[in-house]
Amino acid sequence: MSTADCREPARIDLHTHSTASDGTLTPAALVQAAHAGGVRALALTDHDTADGLGEANIAAAELHLRLVPGVEISVTWEKRTLHIVGLGFDAAHPGLRDLLADLQQCRAARTDAMLERLDRIGVARARERIEVLAAGGQITRAHFARLLIEDGRCQTTKQCFKRFLNPGKPAYVNATWAGLQETVSHIHQAGGVAVLAHPLAYNMTGAWRRRMLDAFQAAGGRAMEVVCGNSTPNGIAQMAEAATGRGLLGSVGSDFHSPDQRWLRLGRPLTLPAAVAPVWDDPALARWFSEARDISR
Ligand code: AMP
Ligand code: MN
Ligand code: MN
Ligand code: MN
Repeated sequence: MSTADCREPARIDLHTHSTASDGTLTPAALVQAAHAGGVRALALTDHDTADGLGEANIAAAELHLRLVPGVEISVTWEKRTLHIVGLGFDAAHPGLRDLLADLQQCRAARTDAMLERLDRIGVARARERIEVLAAGGQITRAHFARLLIEDGRCQTTKQCFKRFLNPGKPAYVNATWAGLQETVSHIHQAGGVAVLAHPLAYNMTGAWRRRMLDAFQAAGGRAMEVVCGNSTPNGIAQMAEAATGRGLLGSVGSDFHSPDQRWLRLGRPLTLPAAVAPVWDDPALARWFSEARDISR
C-alpha cells in the first residue's frame, strides 16, 4: 500500500476529546461516533489525562477502529499557554504519569480559585454544579462556560469566554502548567511523538509563532498540526509551508468536543497537503499505523 492511501482524508483524526476532560461524549460514545463518521484511526487526546483511554480502547476493539493513545498537555511557555498533543505513548510510563498527575493537581487548584470567583459574583452552589457537569473528568474552562450558560449569565460559549473566562475577566485565574521541554521529553521517553497543537490558535503574531516553533524544535519536538477542524485553506497552506520548511511532520485532528459543534462533523475530510510528511510515518507510531495502512482500504 502506498503512502497516498494513508492520506485517505476522512479516516484519520488525531485530536479529539471525551468526558474524561471537556468533551461531551463518553470515550466509548466518541469512538462509536467517530467510527460511524468514517474515521478508521482515532486519537483520544483529553486535556492533561489519559483516563479515557481504557474505555475508548475497549469500544475501538469491538469496532476494529484503530485507537492511538493520546493526550493534550497544557504547557506554559513565555507566560503563554500552549497545547502539546502526545501520540502513541505508553500511558504507564512513570515520567509521563507523574507529569499528568501534577497537571491534574494544578487544574484542581485553579478550579478552587475560579469557584471562589464565581461565588463572589453570586453564582449559587457553583462547586456542586461544576462537579455534576464534569462528571469526574478533568475540569476545564469549558465546564465553567457551561455553568455560566446554565446560570443564565451568558447565552453562548463564546460570550462566556469574552465576558468571564478570558485573561483579565472576572472568573479567570492564571495557572502555570507544564514546561515545554519536560513535556516533549516525557512524551518521547514514554515512546510517543509530541505534536504542537493548533499553531494558529494562540493569537500570536507571525514572529511569535516562529519563536514558538523554534522553541518546540529546540525541545526535540518533531511534528505539528497542519490541518485542524476549523482550519481555513489559507491556514492549512501556511502551516504546510511551516512544517515542510522546518522538516516537521504534519498531523491532522478535528479537536472535536461535542456533536453540538454542528460545523465539526467527525469523519469530515482532514486532508494533509501532499508535500507534508505525515506524523503517522514516524517510527514511534509504526505500531499503530503499519497495520492501520489497510484500514484506509
Ligand atoms: P482550560 O485548559 O481549562 O483553560 O480550558 C481550555 C478549553 O476551553 C479549550 O480546550 C477549549 O475547549 C475551551 N475554550 C477556550 N477558549 C474558548 C473559546 N473562546 N470559545 C470556546 N471554547 C473555548
Ligand atoms: Mn477543550
Ligand atoms: Mn487545545
Ligand atoms: Mn483539544
